[in-house]
Amino acid sequence: MSQESESESTYTEGDLRNTGMQLKHDREWDYELDRIIDAIEERDAEKVGLQFPEGLKRRGPKVADDLRELADDDVTFMLSGQPCYGACDLDTYLMKRTDVFVHFGHSPMKNTDKVIYVPLFSNVEVLPIMEEALDTLEDPEETAGVGLVTTAQHMNRYEEMSTFLEEQGYEVHSRRGDERLTHEGQVLGCNYASADVPADQVLYVGGGKFHPLGLAMEHPDKHVVIGDPVNNVVTVADTEKFMKQRYASVHKAMDAQKWGVIFCTKIGQGRWDQAQQILENNDDAYLITMDEVTPDRLRNFDMDAFVNTGCPRITTDDGPQFYKPMLTPGEYEIAVGNKPLDELSFDTFHGTW
Ligand code: SF4
Repeated sequence: MSQESESESTYTEGDLRNTGMQLKHDREWDYELDRIIDAIEERDAEKVGLQFPEGLKRRGPKVADDLRELADDDVTFMLSGQPCYGACDLDTYLMKRTDVFVHFGHSPMKNTDKVIYVPLFSNVEVLPIMEEALDTLEDPEETAGVGLVTTAQHMNRYEEMSTFLEEQGYEVHSRRGDERLTHEGQVLGCNYASADVPADQVLYVGGGKFHPLGLAMEHPDKHVVIGDPVNNVVTVADTEKFMKQRYASVHKAMDAQKWGVIFCTKIGQGRWDQAQQILENNDDAYLITMDEVTPDRLRNFDMDAFVNTGCPRITTDDGPQFYKPMLTPGEYEIAVGNKPLDELSFDTFHGTW
């Protein structure tokens, strides 16, 4: 499953062992245990929910151990066993049944007193790979500057990144995309509004290709350079393979009669209006509600094709694993003939809940 959460291997080991806290386990990351304990005491909490994204789940028991040492004996800590791939993906069942609910590894998609977000920043150095990326970026004297984006994990270095580029003579363009994003310059797998800047090139600094590929699909007119400080490599985002796969899925779905329209029940992935609109205009479309959208869960439905109004990356990244064509809402419009093929574009997600 290739959604938002970083895999554990994308983190460089930091070391917070000398923080003075007497804990059962060595700490490599700042889990902000004192902030969590303060909230527990303030609210007289008896039940505390802890949610980790997939790549960090194995750290959960150790964090629970440390919190148990610091909290009163009558506090029960519960680890969410639900899959989690983004800040859009809060365990609402656990949230409703606990006095304090902590979500690790993502920055807030929506500010609420109910959730304590502990973002867990990466400690990886970013300047060496940025230095290398200069060879792949267009010269500052020949361009209108450069857009700069990164993920929540590297947001603690954004200032440093921006200053570095300015020192090289670039005009750095940055913005906070929209309310789905917490920070200026931050991107999500489903939202690249922060790259909507008046520059022909964008530098993405961060681990992996998941985000920059989405970025290049959403902004096909921009030169997207990837400075990956985790794998220590500079590349240019190339969307050709991805786009071919999308065209192939749309073609396959063009003869479909019966459509399954997926409405995702995860708190930050619901696009009801879009799902409703498809149903209103197609008597052969059926609304299917679900949280995790997986090939096996859809296999027993007798559909010719699906359109997914939930996380767009399930469709674009995992699409080929489904037994029937899986399209984004925009691709659906093309497949049923409401729009021409050349309007095929990346599906993005805006707003919160
Ligand atoms: S909906 Fe967006 S934030 Fe949520 S998992 Fe998908 S890409 Fe990530």
